[in-house]
Amino acid sequence: MSEKEEKSKSAQLKEKLFLNKKNGCVRVSEEEMNRADEFCEEYKNFLNLAKTEREAVTYAIEAAQRAGFTEYDRTLTYKPGDKVYVNNRGKALMLAVIGKNGTNNGVRLGIAHIDSPRLDLKPNPLYESHHLAMFKTHYYGGIKKYQWPTVPLALHGVIALKDGTVINVCTGENDDEPCFCVTDLLPHLAVEQMSQVMTKAFNGEHLNVLIGSRPFSKDEESENVKLNIMNILFEKYGITENDFLSADLTMVPASKARDLGFDRSMIGSYGHDDRVCAYPALMAAIDAEIPESTVITVLTDREEIGSDGNTGMKSTFMADFIADLAAADGQQLRHVMRKTTCLSADVNAAFDPTYASAFESNNSSYINNGAVITKYTGSGGKYSTSDASAEYMAKIRKILDDKNVLWQTGELGKVDGGGGGTIAKFVANLNADVVDLGVPVLSMHAPMEVVSKLDVYMTYRALYEFYMYQE
Ligand code: MN
Ligand code: MN
Repeated sequence: MSEKEEKSKSAQLKEKLFLNKKNGCVRVSEEEMNRADEFCEEYKNFLNLAKTEREAVTYAIEAAQRAGFTEYDRTLTYKPGDKVYVNNRGKALMLAVIGKNGTNNGVRLGIAHIDSPRLDLKPNPLYESHHLAMFKTHYYGGIKKYQWPTVPLALHGVIALKDGTVINVCTGENDDEPCFCVTDLLPHLAVEQMSQVMTKAFNGEHLNVLIGSRPFSKDEESENVKLNIMNILFEKYGITENDFLSADLTMVPASKARDLGFDRSMIGSYGHDDRVCAYPALMAAIDAEIPESTVITVLTDREEIGSDGNTGMKSTFMADFIADLAAADGQQLRHVMRKTTCLSADVNAAFDPTYASAFESNNSSYINNGAVITKYTGSGGKYSTSDASAEYMAKIRKILDDKNVLWQTGELGKVDGGGGGTIAKFVANLNADVVDLGVPVLSMHAPMEVVSKLDVYMTYRALYEFYMYQE
């Protein structure tokens, strides 16, 4: 036997016995790659239109209604293929497609979150200092605070008035609108700042947003710059300073989603975590025709701060909805939940060669290798995680392989390197089978995060095939 044949024999055996670690780009067809690029065009639009959970819910309801979804009414009878949605306070949304078996064999859940790290305004945000008008902020979610100064910011959110009116705010996104920013100290005077540890050099009270500098008039009154800003806000929105108390206002990066790289293979944007799974989950719900079991896509809020609150996954809103669907089938919630399966659609950290030491390369996810399955998250000795069972992992592997979905597996960085969680454990605690599946992200939680178009598309395919799979 020649040396060449010998090599090809071991190559053959490796192919049979080893994990396939080839780059995903060489494992998919050109047509599939084109479909990925095409899929991501509207995803970029979604990123630009839906920077907050409220905006994501608005976008999703409009898209769902166009696809035939109607608002759920528990007094009506639904048949297989019917499409309904439940809007939870404009901040979380559930989309269900009724299956042939309804809830009798459990439901299939796809859950992604639509909140992202950002700078929320404090309840009393507006002040003037040394003739500059500023907003005090309270950051939301896990941010590296040094990343946020000198980034153009836009103001999003709502102001609720005592008469019941709710004013939508979105300003700073268009080129002809003013933007805002957190200032930073010039390097010339930053000797002390630069010698501090990062958590000290930038703390939460440094994240003040500059919003104005001209006084209202030439009067000698104090706080005339603040007065001028309040007057502008009164003229634009009809609000007074008291109205900030009943507002959900937030500063987010004003930038738009853009193709990234000479090859346009990636997208750079604010808020991929977790819109990059929410959008595929929404599209999978819209494309699910008549599934075997009822499928429910949940777009949830509050994940970045631990899922507490009535629009987060620790709330009963999802279980209550499933209980209503179960009752219509003559079932009880607990019997439905124990047969329910779930993909918790959330991102993982993509291996970053610049910070290779934070990762364990055999168990990291990589850009362009497809949807990443994360068996468990948590920290330390697997604390605070649900850890999907071997049997459930086998089931998901089979679905993805049968349907030729490009996928990979990954842990969140090195053991004891830090950690994090997703909503998986809250769903598992309801007695369902659940595992995380989503998109690998570079620079997660930064004002600009990076994902690969191929991975976004494969996450859509994974969710869709999971929804439609015939047991
Ligand atoms: Mn996330
Ligand atoms: Mn996150």
